[in-house]
Amino acid sequence: MGQQKTVWDNPAEVIRHLAPEHPVMVFAPTVLQDRARQFIQGFPGLVTYAVKSNPDEVVIQNLVAAGIQGFDVASPFEIDLIGRMAPHAARHYHNPVRARSEIAHGVAQGIRAWSVDSRSELDKLFDQVPTEVDGKGVEISPRFKLPVLGAAYDFGSKFGASPELAAELLAEVARRGYVPSLTFHPGTQCTDPIAWESYIRVSKDICDMAGVRAVRLNVGGGFPSHRVVGVEPDLTSIFQEIADTTTEMFGTDAPALVCEPGRGVVADAYALITRVKGVRDGGHVFLNDGVYGGLAELPIIGNIDRIEVLTPQGHPRAGDHGGRVIFGPTCDSVDRLPGELSLPEDVAEGDFVIFHGAGAYSTVTNTRFNGFGAMSHATVMALS
Ligand SMILES: *Cc1c(COP(=O)(O)O)cnc(C)c1O
Repeated sequence: MGQQKTVWDNPAEVIRHLAPEHPVMVFAPTVLQDRARQFIQGFPGLVTYAVKSNPDEVVIQNLVAAGIQGFDVASPFEIDLIGRMAPHAARHYHNPVRARSEIAHGVAQGIRAWSVDSRSELDKLFDQVPTEVDGKGVEISPRFKLPVLGAAYDFGSKFGASPELAAELLAEVARRGYVPSLTFHPGTQCTDPIAWESYIRVSKDICDMAGVRAVRLNVGGGFPSHRVVGVEPDLTSIFQEIADTTTEMFGTDAPALVCEPGRGVVADAYALITRVKGVRDGGHVFLNDGVYGGLAELPIIGNIDRIEVLTPQGHPRAGDHGGRVIFGPTCDSVDRLPGELSLPEDVAEGDFVIFHGAGAYSTVTNTRFNGFGAMSHATVMALS
């Protein structure tokens, strides 16, 4: 994955100058920093970035420059990456199931915040994690789940205790002398603030059941990016709903809030440039990237329809739009975008298709399956 040294004006300039044969991830640092500041200024608590959504070093650097002071890390690799690139930032090790060797790595790295969703994993933490690091308390946050509401897919199917179990875990954490906190993750691409509201209400019930005041409440990630034309993420309403519900439920004694957005911070800072390899007998469009590359997520959470089609000379195609079946480059029949995408009728071999808002769960999940996936990177001043 080569990094272009030049900073281009926008994706169209990249296309005109390079006519790239392989997919290019185009990154706009100013867009990332603006979005990070929108979170820092608008969210009523600490903003930590979920590294798994895009761990590229330029992303981490720009987030630190924008003032991000915490990171949600899930593996020894991510712990070390942030330890190296943001040595003063908080690292929350929020992967509820860890090998003992991974726990030992976190302890050695001075991790002070852990999540958990089962008794067996809590016992492993009790065995290995001290209650204090450098004179400061170590936090353990039971993670709970509710039936999915308003998310693009259900995170609760893998992680999260029932509220009853979370209350038992919370009481046990407090009894053992750790800092008791709570966490949840409402799902991903949650466009409706209701996804957070019900979780915050139940977190109060969990504290009451446990007879414990949670020191912090981490409201997870799930903040939406701009994937669909005309459906702009409304972060302000979500932040307001989180603040209002927390005050309503907990009053003046509310836990300090934390969030851990991935997609909502990084997705809209990138566009993916792909190229049309062929239009088969006037119908199906074959791109040089697909579900084994930068578009890996689309079959799971739906198409990105913020798309531009440019001619090989870099001019926009302006024909009427019609539905097209889109295939990726590999010989695997799964390598197809869901349903149909609306493209200009005059789309042709050699054209470039730009997918906007493509920065999350894309650079990091790109594979070399079937010899494709030679993705490169370019930096731009702006995305349009
Ligand atoms: C993946 C993940 C996130 C980020 O989710 P987004 O939907 O990208 O915001 C936050 N917290 C945890 C624990 C996660 O696993």
